[in-house]
Formats: sequence, C-alpha cells, structure tokens
Amino acid sequence: MNTTDFDRFFLNNSEAGLQSFQHILFESQHLLSQFYKNNTDAFNGKHPHDIEKEILAMPIASKDGDDPLMVLEEVKEKIVKNSIHVSHPTSIGHLHCPPLIPAVAAELIIGVLNQSMDSWDQSSSATYLEERLIQWVSEKLGLPNTADGTFTSGGTQSNYMGLLLARDHFCEKEWSWNVKMEGLPPEAGKMRILCSEDAHFTVKKSAFQLGIGEQAVVTIETDHNKKMNANVLNEEINRLKSEGLYPMCVVATAGTTDFGSIDPIQDIAVITERNGLWLHVDAAYGGALMLSKKHSNKLAGIEQADSITIDFHKQFYQPISCGAFFVKNKENFRYVAHHADYLNPENDEEDGLFHLVSKSVQTTRRFDALKLFMSLRIVGEKNFASMIDYTLHLAEQTVKVMNQKDTFEVCNMHPEINAVVFCYRNDDLEERDNINTFIYKKLLHTGTALVAKTKVKSRVFLKFTLLNPRTTIVDIEDILHSISQFAAEYENRGITQ
Ligand SMILES: *Cc1c(COP(=O)(O)O)cnc(C)c1O
Repeated sequence: MNTTDFDRFFLNNSEAGLQSFQHILFESQHLLSQFYKNNTDAFNGKHPHDIEKEILAMPIASKDGDDPLMVLEEVKEKIVKNSIHVSHPTSIGHLHCPPLIPAVAAELIIGVLNQSMDSWDQSSSATYLEERLIQWVSEKLGLPNTADGTFTSGGTQSNYMGLLLARDHFCEKEWSWNVKMEGLPPEAGKMRILCSEDAHFTVKKSAFQLGIGEQAVVTIETDHNKKMNANVLNEEINRLKSEGLYPMCVVATAGTTDFGSIDPIQDIAVITERNGLWLHVDAAYGGALMLSKKHSNKLAGIEQADSITIDFHKQFYQPISCGAFFVKNKENFRYVAHHADYLNPENDEEDGLFHLVSKSVQTTRRFDALKLFMSLRIVGEKNFASMIDYTLHLAEQTVKVMNQKDTFEVCNMHPEINAVVFCYRNDDLEERDNINTFIYKKLLHTGTALVAKTKVKSRVFLKFTLLNPRTTIVDIEDILHSISQFAAEYENRGITQ
C-alpha cells in the first residue's frame, strides 16, 4: 500500500484528492437540488416503524469502499426522502428553522477547515472571527464593554453555563466558598432559582446537573399573556428568604418555547438588582428580535442581565448547531476556566496567544461563527429584519383567521413573536384532547403539515411555530381547512383513542 492511495480521501493538492472532492460535492448538491425541485410535502408521512426498517436494512460499513454515487443514491432514498423537510412552508412545528443558503455553504467551509475553537494554534483566524461576532451581538444587545461571550451548542448549554456562573458567584459572595475547588457548600440544598412556569425545562435540568437538585427551581405562575408577574416574583423571593432559603438567580424568558411570550425583563431586573440576585435571560428564541427595528424594544432590559442565552439555530436561520452565551462581566468566566499545560497555559496570553477554551464548557468546538458571519454579510441586516417582521405579522394574521372561525380556540391571543397555540374546539375536554391528537397525527401522516402538539394545563393543544418567512397566510388557511376536515372525519368515524 502506497500512501498516495489515500490521496482521494482527503482534500489536498493531488489530482485524486481534488477530483474526489469536486465529484462528491457536485453530486451532493445535484441530489439536493433535484429533490427540492420536485418535493411537494413537509414529510412523506411514513410510519416510524417503516422508516426504521429501511434504515436497518442498509449496510453500515463497506469492506473496500463503496462507490460514492451508490452511497448517495441510498442517502437520497432512505435518508433524504424520509426526512422532515424543515424548509417546507408547512413545516411549522418546532423551533426548527429552514437554514439559510450562505450558512449551508459555510458548513462546507467549516468542515473542510475543521478548526477547533479551544486553542489559538487550532483556530488562528477563527478565534478572532468568533470574538468579533460575540462583540457585534453584545453591542446589538446593548451590553457594556465589560461583556463577553462564547459560541455554544445551543440554548441547553447556554442556560447551563448561566446557572453554573450564577451558582458559583453566589457561593463566593455569600459564603466565600470556592465551588471549583471545594465542591458544593453545606448550604447547597437551600439555594433557589426562580423562573416562570413556562420557562424552558433546561432550567430544571441544569439545576440537577449542577448538584442543587430540581427542588432548587421555584416556578412562578404566568399571567393570561403567559408572562411572569414581577410582583409575584418579588413576594416569592421574600417568602423564600423568610423560610431561611437562599434565592440566588432569576431566569427571565425572552420568548417561551411554547408561546413566544416575553417576561417583563425591566421589572424583573429592578427586583434582582435590589436583592443582589443573578439575572439570566433565556433569549434562545426571542433574541433574534434584536435584528428588527420594529420589535427590538420587546427585549428592553436585556442589557441589564448578568448572563444571556441566544440561539442562532432558531430565528437566525442557522443550520444546527449554533448558539451563544453572553456575560455582562467577563470576569465571571473564571468559574469555568481551567488551565491545561498542553492547551491554554496561563503564560501564553502574555505572548498574545488567545485560547477560547477558557470561556467554554466544551474543549473541541466547532467554528460555527463562520456561518453566522457569512449569513449576516450575504443576507444583510435589512433582509433579516424584514423576514422576522413578516413572521410576526403572519402570527397575528393567523390568530385573526382562527378567531373568525368558531371552530378554533386560540390560547395566546397576542403572540409576541411567531408561535400560535390553539386547539380545535369541543365542549367535552376529553374528547377535545382526542380530536386534537388525531388531527396532529393526520396532518403528519398525510404530509399536509408538520405542526407541534403540546399541553397547556394538562390539556392537548396544537402549535404553529411560524419561523419560515416563506410560509403564507394561504398555507395557513389550507392547513386550517385540512384540520376541519380531519375533525369531521374523527367525529364521523367516532374514533376514540
Ligand atoms: C430551544 C430553547 C432552549 C434549548 O435550546 P437548544 O438549542 O435546543 O439546546 C432553551 N430555552 C428556550 C427558551 C428555547 O426556546
């Protein structure tokens, strides 16, 4: 075996390497272009077991290497055709966006360059581009120049980091306790985090991962607009203190996952400031409003947060994964810093070498900043703003259309972003749950639309998450028409599930 035999497996200056690179990319883009040209549905509607069978039937590895065209053909038949098509206008279930074309192209460059964001000698130019983007977003958020941030795998990791910093900061301030060195303090079981009942489940998940348990999370009931009530928050903090507990952090949500509602950040900031509590704003969903002149005021107060979560793989239209975490005071990254001799020795910084691992809970990390950069440049801020404004308007129109029909009940009458939670009406609530579950399945398995199903006060509701700026009100009306037909079908057949 000659080492040149391996040329065709890597991108390099050999003819074999260049040819195989160009060939597989050409064929891959051809496959996708052809598929998108002919595809008419958000999903082919196949049953999960049938898709599983098809996947299980494929050989996973070959002995001597299969022909790329043959493998791509299988990818097309078994993977692409059986996928959820997130770019389709009726794929409006989850916070799952159609990816921008420049970002998809950037994914290729990210893959080829394969920079790792942990140390400067693995990401020489990428380090600075990530830093520039962090700075750009910080300025958009109105954060002071003491602010800093890092790209993350998404909202889960960003929320985890926010609560980790909040916990360690509190222990240091309250008990001069160093969690990094000593583990949790004896009072750990008495620490409390407050958030609304509609906050993301990763607040609880982070709490148990951080060793203070789910019991640490105290949820505040939301009002009719699904927002936290700041007065109730204030009372709750006082109550906890009077019980000898230690409230240490408030999580305000800017865009709840189900309703897109935004907690009153300014009022909450006054309370956290007065009580010396850490304020984390989970703007995984709503953060993108910063790009809209018309709607950015909905984020007012976010600049006062001690830490912020933003997801770019939601309303910034980036391919998964792409998120970021921001802190108002960069000193607080010390709670995640660790100096490893082989990676980020302390004295490197004196030589101008800058290692982002010191700000992250990850080590090897993707160069996701490139796709956001290419998107912001090629799409432009004005187009981002127009797309966001359009989807918010579409949500309003959707509510209006539903209100005109007496068969629909809307749960959030004034969507703050672009999620609309609703159900097909029935006076019998058990029956209503069954009808809406039936509708959800029918929409999915006929390929009509991919909507989400959620529960509000333990009753079944359907949800449209209108991220896609190519979805029109006609698409929505068509889906509502299908929903009415499926409801009639349910009633006629008298199906009970
Ligand atoms: C999506 C979401 C998260 C979780 O983010 P991932 O990117 O899925 O890890 C957290 N909080 C909110 C409000 C979200 O919408």
